[in-house]
Amino acid sequence: VRRGERSAALREQALRRTPGGVHSNVRLNGPQVFIERAKGAWLYDVDGRDYVDHLLGQGPNFLGHAPGDILAAVERACRDGMIYGGQHPLEVAAADAVCDALGWAERIRFGVTGTEQVQAAMRLARAATGRPKIIRFEGHYHGWLDNILIAPGERGWGPATAGQTPAHLADVIVLPWNDADAVRRTMAERGSEIAGIITEAMMINTGSILPRPGFLETLRELCTAHGAVLIFDEVISGFRIALGGAAERFGVTPDLATYGKAMAGGWPVAALAGRADLMDRFGTGEVNHSGTFNSSTMAMAATLATVTRLRERPPYEQISGYGDALREHLVALAAKHGVPLRVQGLPMAFHVSFGTDDAPGGDVADHRGLSRLDLARYERFAAHLVDHGVWVAGRGIWYVSAAHGDAELAATVERLDRAFA
Ligand code: PMP
Repeated sequence: VRRGERSAALREQALRRTPGGVHSNVRLNGPQVFIERAKGAWLYDVDGRDYVDHLLGQGPNFLGHAPGDILAAVERACRDGMIYGGQHPLEVAAADAVCDALGWAERIRFGVTGTEQVQAAMRLARAATGRPKIIRFEGHYHGWLDNILIAPGERGWGPATAGQTPAHLADVIVLPWNDADAVRRTMAERGSEIAGIITEAMMINTGSILPRPGFLETLRELCTAHGAVLIFDEVISGFRIALGGAAERFGVTPDLATYGKAMAGGWPVAALAGRADLMDRFGTGEVNHSGTFNSSTMAMAATLATVTRLRERPPYEQISGYGDALREHLVALAAKHGVPLRVQGLPMAFHVSFGTDDAPGGDVADHRGLSRLDLARYERFAAHLVDHGVWVAGRGIWYVSAAHGDAELAATVERLDRAFA
């Protein structure tokens, strides 16, 4: 990536204090071009260059940067005291609004990060069943704690990490995703040990892979039959692929689901929602769910304003239209320039990748198919796109927001065309 003068200087300065130079995973934010401000679907760097943002902070800026209504709600909550610790009417209103929007969820607890809500969901499943084991799926990302992170040798987003030991992984059983028979077999053999199954209901982090028809239904049936808890990790899919997330989109209802990212218009908020008989264990104190920053008035104001906006002025059609058009342009431009580009997923969040010469085309049906992709080539391509003013990460995922419109599409297409050339 070509860095302007100020970005280059900031990078040097940052490296002296911040390992890797910036907060985020070095592989995600490889450019280390420093952004000064953002508005709508645009980022502006410290050297005066602009970028169409197709990363959106990995998902939170679903309404674009600094959306006026969310900004006003948060500003009011700041002026009214920046209150933590709950006991504020905004939390009551936000809880009603989110549960009503989701449709299926009877109870909700708010938090700050998706990672924490995943942990709370697993804890609750174990408490409710008295069983130790959680099934998760290869290549799925559920936050960065040791007991759930990608294990050594596993392919998927987020590398295994030094410091993670076999003991951390002992109570997690890892199965291939979209493989109903593997889950059926495991539940038949070990069902009495299984507290729950956690899945990205659509595998977005590693490849934007849709569930095979019937797969989520099978998980639902097996959990019900064996008395295990079905947990959808909707931290990316929630509020993004539909107001009711993957549960609505694919028509399968979990027992618990985690949310984050898109649910608060850019403010850091996460949530765990679900069935009353499970969630009420938090209410009695039997199971702990806590956190200093949970349910701050800013968070609740942002959530309420976002969910209200998503209900009253749903952006889903517009975002789908933009995403579909962008995907068509990507495919057409790749063909025009003779580049073996692949695009898969949904218009609101999709993956762009390169096939290998042996396997140039076709969707990847599970994470194992990733071995047929040339990930290093995509990383170089992404860096090149950043140079040309399209902000994407090196791992293939593209996001679309409600702030992307005709001008952003035209700019992206023109910049893509030059980058391809
Ligand atoms: N689950 C999923 C599906 C995610 O995509 C993420 C974040 N990328 C998380 C959990 C963790 O959320 P957070 O980064 O807010 O802790």
